Formats: sequence, structure tokens, C-alpha cells
Amino acid sequence: MSSESETKPLDLIFRPRSVAIIGLSRGAVGSPVSILTSLEDFGYDGDVYVVNPKMPAVSGITVCKTIEDLPEGLDLAVISVERSTVVDIVERCAGRGIRAAIVITQGFADADEAGAEEQRRLTEVIERSGIRVLGPNTIGVADARAGFTSSFIEISRDPASPVGQVAQSGFLMMGHHLVNNEAAGFGKTVDLGNACDLGLVDVLEYYEADDDIGVIECHLEAIEDGRGFLEAAARIARRKPIVALKAGKSRLGLKAVASHTGAVAGESRVYHQALRQAGVVEARSAEELRLFSKAFATYGKAAGRRVAVVSFSGGGAVLALDAIDDAGLELAELSAETLDSMRHFFPAWLEIENPLDIWIPIAKDMESSFPAILEGVLNDDAVDAVLCIYCSYNLPKYQNFDVSQHVSRLAASYPDKPIACWSYGQDIEGITKTVEASGKAMVFPSLDGAAQALAHLADHHQRTQQAARPQTARSGAAPQEVAGILQRAQGKAYLFTEAFEILEAYDLPVAPWALVEAADSLETATNDLKAPFCLKASSQDIVHKSESGGVVLGVERGAALEEAYDGLCQAVRRNAPGAKLEGVVVQEMAAKGIEVMVGMVRDPSFGPCIVVGSGGIYAEVLDDVALRVAPVDAEEARAMIRETKISRILSGVRGEAAADSEALVKILVALSRFALDHDAVQEIDLNPVIVGKEGAAIVDARFIMSDLAAGACGQGLVRADVG
Ligand code: ADP
Ligand code: MG
Repeated sequence: MSSESETKPLDLIFRPRSVAIIGLSRGAVGSPVSILTSLEDFGYDGDVYVVNPKMPAVSGITVCKTIEDLPEGLDLAVISVERSTVVDIVERCAGRGIRAAIVITQGFADADEAGAEEQRRLTEVIERSGIRVLGPNTIGVADARAGFTSSFIEISRDPASPVGQVAQSGFLMMGHHLVNNEAAGFGKTVDLGNACDLGLVDVLEYYEADDDIGVIECHLEAIEDGRGFLEAAARIARRKPIVALKAGKSRLGLKAVASHTGAVAGESRVYHQALRQAGVVEARSAEELRLFSKAFATYGKAAGRRVAVVSFSGGGAVLALDAIDDAGLELAELSAETLDSMRHFFPAWLEIENPLDIWIPIAKDMESSFPAILEGVLNDDAVDAVLCIYCSYNLPKYQNFDVSQHVSRLAASYPDKPIACWSYGQDIEGITKTVEASGKAMVFPSLDGAAQALAHLADHHQRTQQAARPQTARSGAAPQEVAGILQRAQGKAYLFTEAFEILEAYDLPVAPWALVEAADSLETATNDLKAPFCLKASSQDIVHKSESGGVVLGVERGAALEEAYDGLCQAVRRNAPGAKLEGVVVQEMAAKGIEVMVGMVRDPSFGPCIVVGSGGIYAEVLDDVALRVAPVDAEEARAMIRETKISRILSGVRGEAAADSEALVKILVALSRFALDHDAVQEIDLNPVIVGKEGAAIVDARFIMSDLAAGACGQGLVRADVG
């Protein structure tokens, strides 16, 4: 360990040279479920002290009556006392010069208001004294190489494992090593608990700097500092793969239904996209989490997506094609030399190609054909990885068909070309164990899992080759007049005409409009506008204008305009009796085009997210959107548009000319800039933007102010759990 001044707080926690255990009951001595047993299993060779006034002497351990009897300056205290005494104990530990503590006790911010108050007091002690704390509400850590754990329960221990785990629950630390062949053990693992001091980003950065850790596995429940996480993850993931499972995705938080954008940009969509943007491999289940981190730990440098299939049967080969396609991999095109090298194993009438159905060769002569064919494809420069499909016959009479020795040996000779195995029926004790013996090949429980893992390996390689994307917080280039417009709008819950003004300040194409506050100013106000017009109610109290008769389309100048104006005012009075009508927006009708929705939502942890998708009144039902955590640049905006179904309509179907997607790109980029620069706006809904052959027209805009979002319910805004 490095000198004291350089010791990192997490070194004190993962690999303390001395530890005081506070709150250990007398019964723990000799119990199989005790930190003492765990320390023994881990072979901990640091100094162990137990603080307990009634504990009898225990060999190898120093028992002290009180904290004040401990020697000065121990590295770590592991505390599991009654919650009401935790704060006092931590303070006394700090007073005794103990540098860090793991607080196992639960019942803090994870529980009632009194617990939350205790946690606030704990934070004050930490700030005052400088002691560093993991928890509360944690089982702590395990470090296989340092031989230390704070857990009272058995935990995965694999000193050779490059996997560093960080979890928001002890659960994922515990069952791991009990799972049949799916697990890679942990080099290090930590349960963050309530993370009142040391948190997710601290651990990620600790693992980043740790040369023994090559793969980071995350179990996430809630990320408080989403931006901080994104920045750290995006940097680290370009060197070390990060696999993450986000739990609790289905529980949508309170979302205002005051905008289409808010309704389609649910929490799970934001998380999914945030992880993707940071280059984090998203696992959809605890099984995938184990599987993908084991795949990264098993395979070295996997370079590409071109896969060769070597299958015991044609049926398996066809299934492999589907899995390869679903995972976004490619089928490798084997060279003539490769095919020639193995042709003599096959009958002359069989045309051989990738995927290779090797039943005839192995039925004739497994021992010579199987290794030669497998090595043949591994040798081909056009092959990046191999999917190997076989059957795990374990009866002695089929012993001949056992691939395990060959796969294990060849995997070790070709470390840069993953051999991902799938067996229909796994003989875990026998064949699977031997395949995995070299630690260079893996047997997957499903063909899809194998293909997905290969795709993640290839994606990771690609990430390591790419330049970093900026994760900037602010663009710093807002048009000057915007601050003034926002100032003028202060106190309003929603912006409509001011939203148009702000968009115009960003040089965005709002369909020309004028606000008319009285019938007698209709003519002068619309002088500069070109008919035909559309009329819209401008009111703080109306969310969807057309639903209350607040939109009239295709109106000509003159008497028709006056009539439409009066009609609109009457309809709104009738349909939305309480609503205060501030005026009527008269707007030019936009040229024919495709209705697209563009929006922004401010996620509480990741900040502004930009959304684009199918627009109009059916936006929520169509649910055709792409989302990005800001910033969005032009290239990213184009990728977003390509992700949506509406993009196909934008590019022209049935002989129509393509619409001007670039006009849409400009709007997305500007919204991203605006959202990063102005916290005052919580949500933006531009629905629709009408995208024509040349240019686009923003015809509707709704900004929801942040003050409103914070105290929404009191102000009469309908809020509902959209889940
Ligand atoms: P709301 O969404 O509040 O009901 P909008 O302003 O979006 O009101 O208008 C409803 C619909 O009317 C739009 O989806 C669009 O089809 C049409 N529309 C509105 N303004 C225009 C315009 N300037 N040009 C052409 N069509 C328009
Ligand atoms: Mg609208």
C-alpha cells in the first residue's frame, strides 16, 4: 500500500491494514454466519480488534472494552450497532483517529423520517471530522486479492477475477458464486447502501485506477448524480467495459401529463439511452449481468463483428443465423483457402460455406475433422469470432463427440478470437467445465446470449477506438434576447407566444404569427401575414387547444377572419368555461408536410433530454420517438431521426420527394443548446413541427416552466402516474 498521505479513502475500506469491529455480539464467535468467519475464509492478515465490554478473549483478535481503548489511528471500523447509537459511535471512532467506517446498520434514509434525520446527522459528523463512510445500510465490501471482507455472510471470492462489482444492494454480491457456470467471481465488490458519503462515481473511479480490475459490473437502482455518472462512465467505458443492470425501471416516477414529450420520455427510456450514450453495456436481467461480465472477463481483445458458425447440425446453424442477425452481427465470408483446407472432410456433392454444418465430417471422424475445421475458421482473417454449436452427450458411448478439450485448447491459442459455445442441453459438470477450464472460452445458456455477448465485445472494441464525445454541461452561446423574454414571462406556468419568440431568437422557423387581443385589431395585426391563416387560443389554462375548439384552420382574410375569430372565442368560452383567454394567435398556414414532434424533458438526474418522433395528436399512442441526453449535435440529431419510423416517411415513400430532415436537425440542436443554458424551462413540446420539402415550420410550442414542475400540484396542473 502507498504512503499514508496518498491512501485513497476506498483503499481504507477495501484493504484496511487494521479493522475494529464494533457491535459484534458474543454469539458471533464461532458462528458460521459472522464477519469473523468471513475474515478467516478470506485469509485476512491485518490486525483485528473487537469492541465489546463483555466479549471473552478470542485467539488472534484483540478485544477492547470501549472505542477509547483501541489504539490510535486504525484504518477502518465496521459498525453494526443499534441505529440510535450509530452517529455517536462514528464520532467517537473519528475521535480515536479511525480513518474510515463501514456502517452496516440499516434504518436511515432507507426507512422513516427519523432515520433520514439520523443520516443527516451522520453526514454532519463526516463533514466535521473527515472520517470517510461507506453506507449506512450496507454489507460493505469484499476484496479477494487483499483478503478482506466486512460481510457476515459468505461472498464470492476469486483473486484471479478481473471483475469489480458495485451494487446498490448486497443481494447481488451474495448469490453470485453459487450460480452454476454462469458466474465469474469478483476481484472486488461493494454494496453502496445509502451512499451518504462514498458513492457510485467514487467506486467507478477507484476501479478505473485499479489495474487488477478489467471489467466493471454495476447494479443500479437510482442514480442521484446522473451527469457525474455519465461523465465518469463515458470516460472509463472507453478503456474498461462497464456492464450495468438498472433495477426498478418499470416504476415510472410522477410525470406531468401536460406535454406529449413528457408522456413519451419515461424514466426507463431515459436510463436506457443514458447508459447507451455513456457506452455502458445494459443488461436486462441479473442473468445477463453475470453473463456479460463473465464474457468480458473471459475473452481478451475481440475486434469485430464477423462471425463464423461451426455447428453439429444444419438446424443449429439456421438458429445461429437468426441470433447473429438479431444481435447486429455479420456472417463472416470464409476465404477460398479456408474452404479448400477443409473440403476433404465433406462429401464432394456438398457445397460448403459459413454457417458450417459439420455433421458428416464429425460422424465420420470427429477426432481429426473437428479441431481442423475449428482451427481453419479461426485462422481465417475474415473471421472475428466463432459460434460453436454442439450437443453435450455425456453417455460413454458418445464420448467421441466431446468438443471440450479441442475448444479449450484452441481458445487459448487464439485469444483474440472469441469462441462462444452453445450446447443444446448443457453438461455443466463435464463438458462445460472442460470448455471453460482454460478461462478463454465460455458456454452460454442460450444462442441469443452468446450472440449478444459477441456483439457487446465488438461494440466495446469499437468504443476503445473512438474519440470521446463531449458531455458538456452548458453551450454558453445563448442569443441575448432570450434572457429578456424569460424575464418578461416570469410567474407564468406555461409559455406559448413567448415560446415562439424564444425559438425565433434561436433563428428557428416558427410559422409567422401575430397575437390579436381584440377583434378590432384583427386587420392591422395581420397586415404582414399571408393568408390563409389558422387561429389559436392563447391561454394559460388550456393544454390541448383543439380539444376546446381553440384551433381553426384555413381561414381567408376579411369577413371569414372576423367570423372565425368570434367563433373561436365563443367555442373556448363554451368548452373551457373557466379558462382565461389572453388573446388569439393568428398564424400563417404552413406548407404541406409531415407532422413531427420535437421536445425536451429535464430528467432529475441526467438533465435535459431531447426527443423527436411522430407528431400530432396521436403522438403518445404511436410512441415512435428517439431520445438523447443533451448535448445533441448535428450528427447525433441525424442518428436520432434515423431511429424513428417517421424517418422513413420523411425520406419519401411511394414516390414522394424526401422532406427536409436537415431543417429538423437544426431544431434539435438548437433545443439542446437552449435546454443546457436555461434551467428555467422544465419541458418543451413542439407538436407539431411540419416538415416540408424545403424547410420546416414550427406551428405549435409549449414550454413548461420549472417552478411549476416543482410545485405543480398546488397550481391546478393535472399530474398523474402515467405508468
Ligand atoms: P393543439 O396541439 O393545442 O391542439 P396545434 O397548434 O398543435 O394545437 O394545432 C392542432 C393541429 O392543427 C396541428 O396538429 C396541425 O395539424 C394543425 N395546425 C396547427 N397550426 C397549423 C399551421 N400553422 N399550419 C398548418 N396546420 C396547422
Ligand atoms: Mg399541438
